[in-house]
Amino acid sequence: MAEAKIIDGAAHAKALRAELAAEVARLRAEHGLKPGLAVVLVGEDPASQVYVRNKVRFANEAGMASRDVRLPAEASEEEVVAAVRRLNADPDIHGILVQMPLPRQIDAGVVIAAIDPAKDVDGFHDMNAGRLLAGRPGLVPCTPLGIIRLLRASIGNLAGLEAVVVGRSNIVGKPMAVLLLREDCTVTVAHSHTRDLEEVCRRADILVAAVGRPEMVRGDWVKPGATVIDVGINRVEREGKTKLVGDVAFAEARAVAGAITPVPGGVGPMTIACLLANTLRAACAQRGVEFRLPL
Ligand code: NDP
Repeated sequence: MAEAKIIDGAAHAKALRAELAAEVARLRAEHGLKPGLAVVLVGEDPASQVYVRNKVRFANEAGMASRDVRLPAEASEEEVVAAVRRLNADPDIHGILVQMPLPRQIDAGVVIAAIDPAKDVDGFHDMNAGRLLAGRPGLVPCTPLGIIRLLRASIGNLAGLEAVVVGRSNIVGKPMAVLLLREDCTVTVAHSHTRDLEEVCRRADILVAAVGRPEMVRGDWVKPGATVIDVGINRVEREGKTKLVGDVAFAEARAVAGAITPVPGGVGPMTIACLLANTLRAACAQRGVEFRLPL
């Protein structure tokens, strides 16, 4: 069998950012609306600093306003909540993202609950999670949103396909399962208590791995011709160098799958592009103007 097609997330993300930039230009010209994204970073985690820098850079490139709010690692929960409340009240800010993970002394749930659900561009607030589950409009977490876009571009109609999501976190696994259900897939959610995980994975036409374990999903877990989406971002030491690998053993899976996302360059870039899309959506909703992107 031929090697799997690579789903080029970086190229898809670039195309989406170009669509977003055009839509931002239209909103600015027709409505005087400049969507604004605020990113709150607490502490100096190096990986988080990179993520925040990229988010701010891409927001600016798309013609949006951005605000980089930094708090020291020893900031209290009250201080972080107060920063969020100030952004809630700021009419120039339409989207608020608090970069995770937060330092130990801060309860992420309390901080997320403080974000105005209309500005919750990560889609983590209980209000948005509930809306997603109920099939009502709201802000949807960026990673699964980007994955649906990649799947539609790669497969087309997803109706009737067997989808297996490995992982059930609130930010990836659970919303991913709900979105696949919305596409009329038959969805199985696997986790650390799943019996015979390999066999469950082998049923999948669409296999989404969101586990956080380097190369856990092996080639012989993949149904021939399946579409494999690797969400994992794991830093591992190989031959004295730090390398990024996914949750899927890429070379093995590529030999069996029909299509596969690489790490890096797959799901990650789409996550950031969808964050910008959510900011645009939030800005349109707050201003009462039509949001024109099909997402
Ligand atoms: P979490 O740690 O919150 O969740 C991991 C999930 O995997 C849990 O549901 C857990 O099950 C399950 N799990 C753990 N071990 C096993 C196992 N041996 N067999 C089956 N299931 C298992 O992780 P996240 O969802 O936040 O992230 C997952 C990965 O995706 C990470 O590598 C993260 O870095 C990456 N990520 C990438 C993003 C991107 O933009 N590309 C965005 C967000 C995350 P249980 O619930 O039973 O404990």
